[in-house]
Amino acid sequence: MKLPLVVAGGGLAGAAAACLLARAGCRVVLLEREAGPTDKICGEFISMEAQHYLRLLGLDLSAHGAQPIRRVRLVRGAVAIDVALPFVALGLSRRSLDQALIDCAAANGAEIRRDCTITHLGREDTLTLDIAGQGRIEADTIFLATGKHELRGARRRPATQAENLVGFKMYFRLTSAQRNILRDCVEVLMWPDGYAGLQNVEDGRSNLCLLTQEARLRAAGGDWQRLLDDLCRTQPHLARRLEGAVPLLARPISIFRVPYGFLHKPSADDPAGLYRLGDQVAVIPSFTGEGMSIALHSAAVAVACYLQGDAALVYHRRMRNDFAAQIARASALYRLGRSAQGQAAMMWVARTYPAALRLATSLTRIPPHALARQSALAAAG
Ligand SMILES: Cc1cc2nc3c(=O)[nH]c(=O)nc-3n(C[C@H](O)[C@H](O)[C@H](O)COP(=O)(O)OP(=O)(O)OC[C@H]3O[C@@H](n4cnc5c(N)ncnc54)[C@H](O)[C@@H]3O)c2cc1C
Repeated sequence: MKLPLVVAGGGLAGAAAACLLARAGCRVVLLEREAGPTDKICGEFISMEAQHYLRLLGLDLSAHGAQPIRRVRLVRGAVAIDVALPFVALGLSRRSLDQALIDCAAANGAEIRRDCTITHLGREDTLTLDIAGQGRIEADTIFLATGKHELRGARRRPATQAENLVGFKMYFRLTSAQRNILRDCVEVLMWPDGYAGLQNVEDGRSNLCLLTQEARLRAAGGDWQRLLDDLCRTQPHLARRLEGAVPLLARPISIFRVPYGFLHKPSADDPAGLYRLGDQVAVIPSFTGEGMSIALHSAAVAVACYLQGDAALVYHRRMRNDFAAQIARASALYRLGRSAQGQAAMMWVARTYPAALRLATSLTRIPPHALARQSALAAAG
């Protein structure tokens, strides 16, 4: 009997791929480490492109309480500038979104195995996955969607920008006055060695997701609360937002050394049946709010390639073609935003030529031709 297709990892990329494969009538097994829905580090800004793919999968994000976002507010020191977004983004927790996608995959017939930690990918004669405490499974085709972190046997080349950055996310219940000020808006707060996104999500919660240099965390004795207190002392805007706010997680979710700028370089040595999805194929700086759409786009393209008999190499070349310019531009903007002069320049542009800022953000999105090509393929399939 033909081996089932295996999707390794049930985040956005993996769950979307499982959903599309099952919908196309394939036998598919999705392996996910977490036993149930979990919170994930993410700003939870869902771009227009991500919404496009989620709609195609049949998800109604407003039914899950997604909050509309029409403006970005850039904040540096005491200065705040609002710029209208060129589309309506949405804010929804990853806990809800990822679970909705897994439910969608299950409803289409994918077999979901939770509490399955893959410890190794073998790529000798056949592809194999070792699962902690559950033995080994063999597969002709694996969609590798285990996210940012490395999997033994499937290491990626180091990213050009793997820096000593740390990330932190916490949900807060803000006072109603502060939550109202955030309505319709994502705030991007910048300081000399980092930035944060603050936006509302469902159930009256607001998500603060920040990235900063590891040295700042060290200076705070490795204590996130002290780091946040230190930031609030120097960032009056953040202090105002968080005044009277109640943290909603027992401890923040954190991440270290995100491999920003990584883009998988296809090689003839890559196994023909190993398709890398999402953060396993490309990691864009998170300020763009495009990581989720890259994950969903990669899933859609990988499944289309698989169904029309294209080897993984063809798919990986397409991904490089789709994302190389986008990631290069995002990385350049990201580098610019890390200097005081760069931040000041961004504020000046936002104030003087908001349309130029909108154009800059559109250059960090999935190119329209790539989206159009994928939609045409989906329609033909
Ligand atoms: C600080 C920060 C903020 C961000 N903000 C945004 C944003 O606002 N908007 C946006 O679009 N993008 C954002 N991103 C990017 C976005 O979160 C990712 O690009 C996206 O989650 C990638 O999806 P994925 O499916 O590839 O990986 P993930 O969503 O990470 O999913 C990977 C899945 O694999 C599972 N897994 C991992 N290892 C194993 C294993 N060994 N065995 C079995 N299962 C495993 C995990 O449990 C997880 O469910 C942000 C990223 C960071 C770091």
